[in-house]
Amino acid sequence: MLASHRLSLAWIGRGVEIERKFVPCTIKKGSEMIEMRYEAPRTLKAAVALLAAANGRAKVLAGGTDLLIQMRSGRIDPELLIDVKCIPELRTIAEEKGGYRFGAAVSAMELVEHEGLARMWPGVIDAVKLIGSIQVKGRATVGGNLCNASPAADSVPALVAAGALARIIGPGGRREVPVEEIPAGPGLTSLRAGEMVVSILLPKRPQRSGDAYLRFTPRTEMDIAVVGAGVNLTLNAKGVCSRARVSLGAVAERVLLLPDAAAALIGQRVDAAALERLAAAASAACRPIDDKRGTKEYRIKVAGVMARRAAQIAVKRAKGEV
Ligand SMILES: Cc1cc2nc3c(=O)[nH]c(=O)nc-3n(C[C@H](O)[C@H](O)[C@H](O)COP(=O)(O)OP(=O)(O)OC[C@H]3O[C@@H](n4cnc5c(N)ncnc54)[C@H](O)[C@@H]3O)c2cc1C
Repeated sequence: MLASHRLSLAWIGRGVEIERKFVPCTIKKGSEMIEMRYEAPRTLKAAVALLAAANGRAKVLAGGTDLLIQMRSGRIDPELLIDVKCIPELRTIAEEKGGYRFGAAVSAMELVEHEGLARMWPGVIDAVKLIGSIQVKGRATVGGNLCNASPAADSVPALVAAGALARIIGPGGRREVPVEEIPAGPGLTSLRAGEMVVSILLPKRPQRSGDAYLRFTPRTEMDIAVVGAGVNLTLNAKGVCSRARVSLGAVAERVLLLPDAAAALIGQRVDAAALERLAAAASAACRPIDDKRGTKEYRIKVAGVMARRAAQIAVKRAKGEV
């Protein structure tokens, strides 16, 4: 990496303090020197215009905790970086229709420190807390975690279980999609050309609801999930589960929403037998790979265990016991 490129990364690190909108620099592409531009638009309209004009040669830059690593390793070499952290819609957390909408460029740490969000969606916040170290959480965003499309991203199964909706903007206007529709495979999203995620809505919760996210890693911290499991459920006044959503990460090419696992809970008191059926359905839905963190068989087994334990925590939260 060239000194001029490193210089531009230092600019990026200053986030909202950046005053210049356009920073040209030179990077090496094979044996060739190419010009890379850095822009920090202050409106959605300007960001969309830049993305659309770049014809796929631009990358959205949020916290940069995935993107800059990919650039350094030479996996990608965008000609334009569009830093979205100066756009108000991407930087705010606000109540909406009894739930919360947060901007795609709100940092993980800002989400963790938001008391209202943590009270309403503790499972989602548990997942966000797992993203890297304190320093990483100071930069990383949930929008980036989602759009990086790693099958092992921690916040994504929790958002999917929560029934979160992503607001997308692009040359064709705005649209809202369930979060599970965005990851399409490792490093791939369903976003159309020139589109970006603006914000994510965590919906209002009925009474007696609880959610939980658990991940299994070989190390206790700073590791990638072998399995991540999210459960979100609601109990009726008699303690019977009336609604449930179950999701798994790191056991397929993208996050999975598991209707069969949810069906094992709905209409039940979430007793040992229901939890056993939930675990079996979760394991049955996995289509994992073997890697150094675990074999297929191991992941399939652990997925059932994690889903069952996450459901137990979600039930306790729904009953107000924790
Ligand atoms: C040391 C370390 C430890 C980590 N540990 C974990 C962990 O435990 N769990 C975990 O899940 N992750 C972990 N990560 C990965 C990383 O921190 C997360 O994926 C992070 O949430 C990405 O967010 P970002 O804002 O940094 O994204 P960026 O790096 O800025 O962007 C990531 C990708 O998403 C795209 N993008 C970003 N925002 C948008 C948007 N609004 N619209 C469209 N596309 C967008 C970018 O173009 C890029 O392709 C770790 C990373 C590091 C460096």
